[in-house]
Amino acid sequence: MATDYFQQFAIQFSGLADGDHNFAFEIGDQFFSGLEYSVVEGGDVKVDVLLHKQPNMMTLNFDFEGQVKVMCDRCAGSVPYPVEGSQRLIIQLGDGEADDDELIILPRGEFEFNIAQHLYEYIALSLPLRVVPCEETDDTSMCDQTVLSRLNEIIVPEESSPVDPRWDKLKGLTNTDN
Ligand SMILES: [Zn+2]
Repeated sequence: MATDYFQQFAIQFSGLADGDHNFAFEIGDQFFSGLEYSVVEGGDVKVDVLLHKQPNMMTLNFDFEGQVKVMCDRCAGSVPYPVEGSQRLIIQLGDGEADDDELIILPRGEFEFNIAQHLYEYIALSLPLRVVPCEETDDTSMCDQTVLSRLNEIIVPEESSPVDPRWDKLKGLTNTDN
């Protein structure tokens, strides 16, 4: 992980007064390419964070909006996809373990918290399970037509033969989970 780049997402809360504080972040390609694992290939997302600080506890409200580049589940091309959402995270200082996705418990004495991984998860979770922009927009030009026409050729072979070698090509094209 590119530590220097991600350092900007470390919120140093120990010096903040109780009350409300605003933070703004611009997430770009470097963010997604710097993560160890990302289903998002790139993008441009604005994030606003409203942090409400109380003694030994903080509430962070995230609002994000922008566009990411993801792989189309139909043609495997890189496509832009709009994202937006709101999330809340509560950080407590103290003992014990959090039993809630929205809650994090940090040991007393911690002074900062890096929100980069949470931002990534919020954005990734806002995406639908199947990303095919041309199905939603009715704009078939968004898909990679070269790939689609090759898929169509393979799926509807002129002569059916159980050992048609073109099926192997299809496996290579559609097996995108690896
Ligand atoms: Zn597509």
